[in-house]
Amino acid sequence: MKNFNLAIDGPAGAGKSTIAKRLAKQLGFIYVDTGAMYRAMALYFLRNNIEASDSARIEAACKDVDITIEYKDGEQFVILNGENVNGLIRTEEVGNMASASSVNRTVRLKLVELQQNLAKKESVVMDGRDIGTYVLPNADLKIYLTASSSERARRRWNELKEKGVAADIEAIEQDIIDRDHRDMTREFAPLCQADDAVYLDSSDLTIDGVVDRILELYDEKASK
Ligand code: C5P
Repeated sequence: MKNFNLAIDGPAGAGKSTIAKRLAKQLGFIYVDTGAMYRAMALYFLRNNIEASDSARIEAACKDVDITIEYKDGEQFVILNGENVNGLIRTEEVGNMASASSVNRTVRLKLVELQQNLAKKESVVMDGRDIGTYVLPNADLKIYLTASSSERARRRWNELKEKGVAADIEAIEQDIIDRDHRDMTREFAPLCQADDAVYLDSSDLTIDGVVDRILELYDEKASK
């Protein structure tokens, strides 16, 4: 059977990575977390004191950065110039830098190539912001997964609370709104729903509910 490409796009905190991981496991596909690649680039910029607005330095740095992906027991590892950076890219600082630096076209083109090569080789569940619209325009199934900004903030706040981190829910929601705005209004490959994507609002759905709905859609496509 030919590779099946399942694209999931949507704003921050909509539940994409949790859902995509579950789907990949159930379908026996590879999960490609494209946000982690933008985060690894962001880590490099932070370490080298390169500002997101300094496009000349960002573009020069893209030539020095080598990003590769490895898989072990279904988990994706991002390798930045030979170093596994998985444990370093989930901070707010890196997330903010990823959001700001991913508007750069050179950064995007570099990572898009890596993403397209992965999808050529294997059946993938790939999540991000521009997968259905730009990276895999011919994906077999496209999902646009979203939720209200208040619900996304509530989920993030709960995650932090579980880790024992106190946070202000209003500040979290404002950060989410700012990130959405940056992702949706950038000039190159902005976040938007592809014409042929299925829209799913997870605000009032459980994780299992969303996974089951996508599996139904997959069965319909795969049986054709
Ligand atoms: O999904 P995650 O929060 O890990 O992504 C980090 C940042 O990378 C996002 O805020 C977004 O700006 C950017 N990104 C992107 N395109 C993708 C994946 C992530 O612009 N395909």
